[in-house]
Amino acid sequence: MKDLSRALSELVVERVGFGIFAVDRDCNVLMWNRFMQDYSGQSLEEVAGRNLWECFPELPRGWLKRKFDSVFVLGNYAFSSWEQRPFLFKFHHDRPLSGSNGFMQQDCTFMPLVEDGQVVAVCVTLADVTEFSILQREREAALKLVRANADRDGLTGIYNRRYFEEQMRIAFDHWLKSGPTLSLLMFDIDHFKRVNDENGHLVGDMVLREIAARVPEVLPEEHMFARYGGEEFAVMLPGMGLDHAMIVAEDVRRAIAEDPIENGEVRLWITASLGVSATRESFTTYEMLINEADAALYAAKRQGRNQVAALHVGGV
Ligand code: GH3
Ligand code: MG
Ligand code: MG
Repeated sequence: MKDLSRALSELVVERVGFGIFAVDRDCNVLMWNRFMQDYSGQSLEEVAGRNLWECFPELPRGWLKRKFDSVFVLGNYAFSSWEQRPFLFKFHHDRPLSGSNGFMQQDCTFMPLVEDGQVVAVCVTLADVTEFSILQREREAALKLVRANADRDGLTGIYNRRYFEEQMRIAFDHWLKSGPTLSLLMFDIDHFKRVNDENGHLVGDMVLREIAARVPEVLPEEHMFARYGGEEFAVMLPGMGLDHAMIVAEDVRRAIAEDPIENGEVRLWITASLGVSATRESFTTYEMLINEADAALYAAKRQGRNQVAALHVGGV
């Protein structure tokens, strides 16, 4: 029975689909299973009794020695995951992997082999986690992309309304806790329906993209610019009072109106109407700031378009 269980464990050690090897206190190799032989290209006969560093000079010696020592001294298990250290041995893998030189990604466990209460050797298991790591990396890259796109408007690439309002709420709360004044510009393209009707929706889209590209050029460094709706845009200006924001709004108006928007045969003179608001003592929610900028924007429309308006000029 004992022989049978020994034969069985030897068989398992040899045939199992991960690496198993053991070293003594001097880092001489005591055990080296089939997996290790196949991937390292070194047979048991070649490495048995030899120093691990001699056989594999490319191993991260300092790091690995500390792992071994902690097992010898403390008698505990130690681990290393591919996320901490992608590989221990430079084993090749048939799946090309960017960022890891194409080597097999490895999870390792370091276990004490105890005899008469003494740790006499460290047994290391080495699992090939390449497939898993590829999936994990792909998943992370996809998530990163989804997260980045979730904040952006698909047509213009600038921030979308959802993200803008999230940031407005944060900035407004900061103002409420005695942060500096916060200003807001909202603008809407004049007679945009006509632009679409006369030139087609694709040209309309091109105009929106061009405006999204022009406006940031005249904005101060600290700003957040978003597409708020169809042909309506918003700019948050943290730390800026109403008077200064009016000047920025005028720069934006000019940036849109000053030069025609051209694309191939098309040459269009576009204007926008702008409304400006800034935090005032009576404000309790960021929506009040938005409503006031919106009301000012419609005042600018009523007054003849292509202009800047604010409801509380001279206010703080
Ligand atoms: P006003 O000066 O009063 O703002 O007039 P307007 O024609 O700009 O206003 P209205 O709200 O009547 O029209 C807005 C138009 O914007 C209607 C809609 O088809 C168009 N629009 C909204 N989103 C998009 C878009 O993503 N692409 C294009 N090409 N047009 C859009
Ligand atoms: Mg409009
Ligand atoms: Mg509109």
